[in-house]
Amino acid sequence: MERFSIHNEIELKELLAENKIPAFRYGQIENAIYKNFVTKFQDIQTIPKDLRDLLDERCFYQSLSIDHEATSSNGQTTKFLFETQDKLLIEAVLMRHLSGRNTLCISCQAGCPMACTFCATWKLGLQKNLPLYEIVEQVMYAAKMLNWEWERLRNIVFMGMGEPMLNYDVMKEAIHVFTAQKKFDLSNRRVTVSTCGIVPWIEKFTDDFPQTSLAISLHAPNDDIRREIMPVDHTYDINRLMTSLDRYTDKTNKKIFYEYIMINWVNDHLKLADELGKLLQGRLAHVNFIPYNPWEGTSSDGYSTTPRFIIEKFQRTLEKYGVVSTIRATMWDDIDAACWQLARKKKEEEK
Ligand code: SF4
Repeated sequence: MERFSIHNEIELKELLAENKIPAFRYGQIENAIYKNFVTKFQDIQTIPKDLRDLLDERCFYQSLSIDHEATSSNGQTTKFLFETQDKLLIEAVLMRHLSGRNTLCISCQAGCPMACTFCATWKLGLQKNLPLYEIVEQVMYAAKMLNWEWERLRNIVFMGMGEPMLNYDVMKEAIHVFTAQKKFDLSNRRVTVSTCGIVPWIEKFTDDFPQTSLAISLHAPNDDIRREIMPVDHTYDINRLMTSLDRYTDKTNKKIFYEYIMINWVNDHLKLADELGKLLQGRLAHVNFIPYNPWEGTSSDGYSTTPRFIIEKFQRTLEKYGVVSTIRATMWDDIDAACWQLARKKKEEEK
């Protein structure tokens, strides 16, 4: 008989019911897994031995295996390369902040179909939508690591591989797991969904998750440049996108995070800073400038990082329009990039 993930609440409750096991046992299992970070069913001492045996027979705890793990020299950032049972690779990044704002960036798809030119992921194409348990396991792995460090996970961002709106139903279930008091117990605003701008799904998201944070991969303030680097703009142009985002802010009164990757000679002309300021002026917006990271695997496109002083000029220009921005620290710069890429490439070549 095929085993199912311990994170599948519905199936687990059905299993208990079929075996005439009292419903309160679910709460004990849940507490052991999510609060005490028990990893072996036989170690759940609060439930009887025959139930532990049943869990061993019918459930699995973890399907992902860790293929590669690298931590920056200051210990703040850890990158994980996971391998799924069907031999696909997915990444997650844990960013530890001195303030305790520990954030995990997770993947929702293996590969991605959206074809943004600055991103290594799309070159894989869409390999699959991740099932719920593969998303939750990324979080569990990092949460356990932080627990060991006497810390807690505070934020989760869907900003790794894949476009979360294209795996909407699973993303929705995952958000419930992250925010359930008896599971990861994060407040909704500490979960952020980042999308490249698929308008109908943003509208659905606004209705379903008015408390959850939203980030937009904008990366250019006009359609001419955005289309060059983000094909999604051919279908949903900036005008349509902003209309749906205005609906989100009207309904939620929450600011939106706009991601802007800084690529030298592509989207960093200073006149674009003015255009960006005009676009976001008066809107509930926070811009994150992300220096392009050439070792992520797209250097063959000839892209390079915008010099820091230009990014700072962008920031000052936005200030004139009353738009707040931050420049993302590239905390993973000193992770052994060559070694990391080698691990990823080797795996991809083996397939
Ligand atoms: S949507 Fe995100 S993951 Fe997909 S290609 Fe664009 S940047 Fe990469």
